[in-house]
Amino acid sequence: MSQHYDLISIGAGSGGLSAAERAAQYGKKCAVIESNEVGGTCVNIGCVPKKVMWNAANIAHAIQNAPDYGFDAHSNGLNWDKLVMQRENYIGGIIDWYGNYLADSNIDYIEGQARFVDAHTLEVDGEHYTADHIVVAPGGYPVVPDIPGAELGITSNVFFELDEQPEHIAIVGSGYIAVELAGLMSALGSQVTLLIRGGHVLGNFDDMLQGALAKVLQDDPNLVFLTTTEVENVVENEDGKLTLQCTNNQQVNNVEALVWAIGRAPNTADLNLEAAGVHTDKHGFIPSNEFEETNIKGIYALGDVNGKAALTPVAIAAARRLSDRLFNNMPDRKLDYSNIASVVFSHPPIATIGLSESQAKESHGDSVKVYSTSFTSMSHAFTKHKVPTAMKLVCVGAKQKIVGIHVIGPGADEMMQGFAVAVKMGATKEDFDNTVAIHPCSAEELVTMR
Ligand code: FAD
Ligand code: NDP
Repeated sequence: MSQHYDLISIGAGSGGLSAAERAAQYGKKCAVIESNEVGGTCVNIGCVPKKVMWNAANIAHAIQNAPDYGFDAHSNGLNWDKLVMQRENYIGGIIDWYGNYLADSNIDYIEGQARFVDAHTLEVDGEHYTADHIVVAPGGYPVVPDIPGAELGITSNVFFELDEQPEHIAIVGSGYIAVELAGLMSALGSQVTLLIRGGHVLGNFDDMLQGALAKVLQDDPNLVFLTTTEVENVVENEDGKLTLQCTNNQQVNNVEALVWAIGRAPNTADLNLEAAGVHTDKHGFIPSNEFEETNIKGIYALGDVNGKAALTPVAIAAARRLSDRLFNNMPDRKLDYSNIASVVFSHPPIATIGLSESQAKESHGDSVKVYSTSFTSMSHAFTKHKVPTAMKLVCVGAKQKIVGIHVIGPGADEMMQGFAVAVKMGATKEDFDNTVAIHPCSAEELVTMR
């Protein structure tokens, strides 16, 4: 006998949990199936442990700057064990909280790997579970390149298992994860080599952000930034350290940890999607329409697996809207994927929303007007260690509607959420100009640019 549910989520990550949680709030019978830890990537091996490490790196920077403010402060070094223990205890608390929350919400938690038997039936460890609605939210996994010795490297998953701080860490990739790990490991005192195959970090971001972050990376004394460099093979030496043989006859030696951060692929290979008739694209992503529906009625794909925008709040928002639509008589409810703000937790952080200058010019031509500024924030005005701030507003048309905001600098991470509301509401440059500034802070520049 199989158990029947109104909704089953495959994956207890950001998307799967949110769909079940919202459906359960409407009194529906729900289950989540999870083959690993509740909380998924974000809680266990993504946003949360990363942010703890980023916070630690900020403390290292604060100690570095403290003498310039008159403090007799210096660091005797980082206790990596303690940092990792505190971080994992914190995550353990979140996992415990989820366990209780699921029980209190009457959501069944099924441990194991889900596979489709047919469009309404899933199998987990020989047991069958059926549902009217199945939300496929299995997330993704980090890609490793197909080169000799690649297995000697690790991915971001294993990075969070390192029980010793590497003296020299090499990071390959130019996206979010690579620049975040590079910045925080440098601040925490490791020697970092960042290798990117192209000329720029953060491929689709505004040029101003790419350039400003590249300069920070180049100026960082703990970091070697190698552009247009591809790793061709990796060998382990007798002392256990790695040598990376790269293009242009370059070698990177004495590497204690090598991290591949070259993108993520969807976790769809083991779902037996063929049994349900669900289509994937050539990369394994499950295409879903604006209502997160796959090609099969009653089966939805959201979060990282649909390839639209791999961010936790996106998975959560799409999932909640789906359950609102299915179970709360809101037939038009869906996620608008335009103007999603995001933060890269680099050092300094980057916050961005909307179109880059070049994207705006591509779609709006000469009607684009750009305002930009760059300066050193007051927090670093007289410190030896300088951190740049740069901002750009991208406006379109006679009314100068704001279609993009790009910021790098201390505080950018906390700055953008409020501005994202304004952009979402269709704010114009005049609306920004009409807003009286808050002084003294970096964000005031966004409403005073000329
Ligand atoms: P996941 O959270 O990955 O959850 C999927 C779950 O499904 C997993 O727990 C998996 O074990 C399970 N699963 C897979 N297959 C099966 C199966 N067949 N049966 C049962 N269970 C299965 N996003 C941000 O917004 N901000 C950040 O700061 C941020 N930092 C990140 C840092 C790192 C290092 C990484 C890797 C990602 C980061 N992200 C961040 C992205 C964010 O973590 C993801 O976008 C988000 O977790 C996606 O949620 P999801 O529900 O789609 O998948
Ligand atoms: P990204 O997609 O952000 O970046 C990976 C980059 O690596 C590619 O864009 C590509 O850049 C480069 N690359 C690809 N293949 C190779 C290769 N073989 N060798 C060298 N470089 C290569 O992936 P991440 O893994 O960093 O992160 C995955 C996603 O997770 C992010 O896109 C983001 O959505 C999410 N995330 C969000 C965070 C946040 O919100 N703060 C933090 C971390 C992750 P190029 O073509 O320029 O070489």
